[in-house]
Amino acid sequence: MRRKLVVGNWKMNGSIAKNKALLDNVISGVQHLRDSDYVVCVPYPYLAQVQSLAQGSNVAWGAQNLCANENAALTGAVSPHMLVDYGCSYVIVGHSERRMQSHETDDTAAARFNAAVSGGLTPIFCMGESKEERESDWTEYVVGRQLDSILRRFGADMVAKAVLAYEPLWAVGTDNPATPEQAQQVHKFIRNRIARCDKVVAKNVRILYGGSIQPANAAALFAMPDIDGGLVGRCSLDAKAFVDICRAADQYAIAA
Ligand code: PEP
Repeated sequence: MRRKLVVGNWKMNGSIAKNKALLDNVISGVQHLRDSDYVVCVPYPYLAQVQSLAQGSNVAWGAQNLCANENAALTGAVSPHMLVDYGCSYVIVGHSERRMQSHETDDTAAARFNAAVSGGLTPIFCMGESKEERESDWTEYVVGRQLDSILRRFGADMVAKAVLAYEPLWAVGTDNPATPEQAQQVHKFIRNRIARCDKVVAKNVRILYGGSIQPANAAALFAMPDIDGGLVGRCSLDAKAFVDICRAADQYAIAA
């Protein structure tokens, strides 16, 4: 059984005052929802604040990146155990913005994925193709390569400890979401590829869709058989929109 999961990615947004108002409204908005899981991934400086506001609620929290090393001379880096110290359960790994802007590669993303699992965190491992790659019919090649960077290297048992996210670059931060059918096609491809290694893991692993999810399109996406929830950027900064997306997930609570 796969419970739906909605993850807010605040990116580099927030302030002490704004976070409190946003999170208070999210927490009260989802407190009576029982059938899905809800997470916010916030900037490092706000982890302590989010921990104190969210603990005891049904909203979990996490970070947006981590270092693959523990305790090293790496100025500015944040290790897995530091995230655990602040009560994080999740961490985003390999987001397209980091792949594009911070020279993240399949290898560095895989190393962070490994560090997250080893450190007791659930990585939310992002994959997705660019517009040019889709137009050249390379979607399965690119997503397959990104998936293999963890699946072939670490095996299906490690993938079972993660959440996967299909985030087509042409849909992230645009007003051009994938259609439910487009997203479903790639989610099914991902699940089938995992099934070649381990059918049980393929059946149980959660695969989120990310890229311009809004209250208006969330239910149609979440109704798809291989879409287990969403990774939400801009709408996670608006409590009402985020709660509406969480409600849509609850509506399609459990996939077989
Ligand atoms: C994201 O950055 O992970 C994302 C999905 O952003 P948005 O929802 O704004 O497209």
